[in-house]
Amino acid sequence: MDYSSTKESPPAGAWWSRETVAVVTGANRGIGHALAARLAEHGLTVVLTARDGARGEAAAAPLRARGLAVAFRRLDVSDAASVAEFAAWLRDTVGGLDILVNNAAVSFNEIDTNSVEHAETVLRTNFHGAKMLTEALLPLFRQSPATSRILNISSQLGLLNKVSDPSLKALLLDEETLTEAAIEAMVSRFLAQVKDGTWGAQGWPKVWTDYSVSKLALNAYSRLLARRLQAHGARVSVNCFCPGFTRTDMTRGWGKRTAEEVADVGARLALLPPAELPTGAFFKWCTPQLYSKL
Ligand code: NDP
Repeated sequence: MDYSSTKESPPAGAWWSRETVAVVTGANRGIGHALAARLAEHGLTVVLTARDGARGEAAAAPLRARGLAVAFRRLDVSDAASVAEFAAWLRDTVGGLDILVNNAAVSFNEIDTNSVEHAETVLRTNFHGAKMLTEALLPLFRQSPATSRILNISSQLGLLNKVSDPSLKALLLDEETLTEAAIEAMVSRFLAQVKDGTWGAQGWPKVWTDYSVSKLALNAYSRLLARRLQAHGARVSVNCFCPGFTRTDMTRGWGKRTAEEVADVGARLALLPPAELPTGAFFKWCTPQLYSKL
């Protein structure tokens, strides 16, 4: 991709350059779109992705018209074929990436409802989708000296203090014994309980339960992946960011802050100087939290 004619340049002293590539999922609207715009305004090359071609192109075009280095590529994170196609395109056309923002997610509930009718889609998108894309793109991270990063847009609804089942809490808390298989088994157990109607009395989070379980799984996977990559000497950090209650379509426009305010903080976290970049952290707004927060 040649963006030599673009207007925005990285600020003086920044660790990144115009060649630094950030991929943002679900970036045709809401927080993802604001974050893609903010990263491009910081002078990075942004691959804005969306599951719908027309919606994605319509979101990318005005950013390009402003002189920002923004490419659009279709990507449905819940579809294995789409993820494979995207990874191949990124490898062959762009050559790799430096930053992955797993933002795409769904919730089908109103603010005050807790239906699990769409639990399978919620888990497939919010947890399995983010995980599938991450695993597909891991080999493509450039692992530059400035270190590559993954920022998972998660939620405090998936923190351990929302879980009241002591054995589940213990499982997720024990970093030494927690495995990906155990996280997958937790998700399968939840979906089985949704099918047989017993999910309500099992100690899962009480608010937006299917969505919260998806973020519980995403948080646990993020922490595990951070450890796995660190153990293998990979220079890719993995952190989670909860933007808090934000006025987007997901909340039907309710919330304390705008997607643009969230994008300011999210971009700051995604672009932390290498020396200040943690791994395995959960940021609630700007503040790193313990996952447990019991
Ligand atoms: P929105 O509903 O406004 O946007 C969600 C985005 O995800 C849309 O672009 C949507 O695309 C996309 N998406 C959904 N499914 C897929 C898929 N299968 N593949 C690719 N893209 C998909 O939500 P927000 O902007 O509010 O949420 C962004 C992130 O922030 C999410 O991870 C959410 O969980 C998190 N978050 C939001 C909070 C809030 O208060 N808003 C609070 C805490 C966390 P399409 O237009 O095609 O549907």
